[in-house]
Amino acid sequence: MEHWSDGVLDFWSDGVMQNFSTPLLHYSNNPSLQYSSNPSLHHSINPTFVMPELPEVETIRRGLERVLIGETIQQIKIHETRLRQPVNVRKLRRLIAGQPVRALHRRAKYLLCEMGNGAHLVVHLGMSGRLLYCKKSHPLQKHDHVQFIFHNGHELRFCDPRRFGMVDAVLPGKLQDYNHFQNLGIEPLSPELTAGYLHARAKGLSRPIKNFLMDAAIIVGVGNIYASESLFRAGIPPQKPSGKLSRQEWEKLAQAVRETLALSIDAGGTTLNDFYNSDGEMGYFQQHLMVYGRDGEPCRACGSKIRRLVQAGRSSFYCPRCQKSKSVKRNA
Ligand SMILES: [Zn+2]
Repeated sequence: MEHWSDGVLDFWSDGVMQNFSTPLLHYSNNPSLQYSSNPSLHHSINPTFVMPELPEVETIRRGLERVLIGETIQQIKIHETRLRQPVNVRKLRRLIAGQPVRALHRRAKYLLCEMGNGAHLVVHLGMSGRLLYCKKSHPLQKHDHVQFIFHNGHELRFCDPRRFGMVDAVLPGKLQDYNHFQNLGIEPLSPELTAGYLHARAKGLSRPIKNFLMDAAIIVGVGNIYASESLFRAGIPPQKPSGKLSRQEWEKLAQAVRETLALSIDAGGTTLNDFYNSDGEMGYFQQHLMVYGRDGEPCRACGSKIRRLVQAGRSSFYCPRCQKSKSVKRNA
């Protein structure tokens, strides 16, 4: 039932949102940022939270970029190899240890650390993974499975209580052939995301647009929250068959996906500078949610009650007034 892909689990499937920790990045060179929490922000956050989606991973990528570029990994310590995919200790040490970090990339929700030798360190946070950048002296926590120790006295720790995450290494020049990337669709923030692409891929499909949007083979990184939010923004009902969208609706939707993700990344980027708490909650994007998780609450645009429905086992949230199918006559 639990799956690990570029979609997310439905925390609402049993009516109870489950509690997972979220990615967290500490900057130990600025002690005031560690474990600090802004009470006013904290108050507005749903204390239960969801797993990392693309914007969180992109936010983490940007954060790591600021501290890791040019730093050399001196040593790798592995305390637990039983992750989603067993950690290949030898490969990791052979390809990554002793190498400087050249660049930080992201593909879907995989973080890619390009090393000086052209190899890539690949990290996926799974459902509960966190990355912690801290001083070597910082006490090791229970679920800190991998330590990447840098020459500069700091280290990057991969912590993952549920162990659905992944740490791997890819040989120089072999990233295109990497098995986890073989069936991935386009990146939503790349120029490949166009109305034309979506329209072509959806041709003849009766599958609801919400499910289409969450299909990582079509487009990666549009998780459950962002699918609902993007459809609201585009004014398209989640049940509409994907083959029935007009060219204009595809234009709106492509734009909406880009904007929804970009807003979230911007919010995350800002928030990373001033908000962490010791529970690993980093609840930034919930402040921007228009429909997700707002079942029964008034629509922020029109005041109608937000509705929830289950599609492919996942909750969808939508406004029945703002998201009316254009093929349905409006004569209310
Ligand atoms: Zn509305």
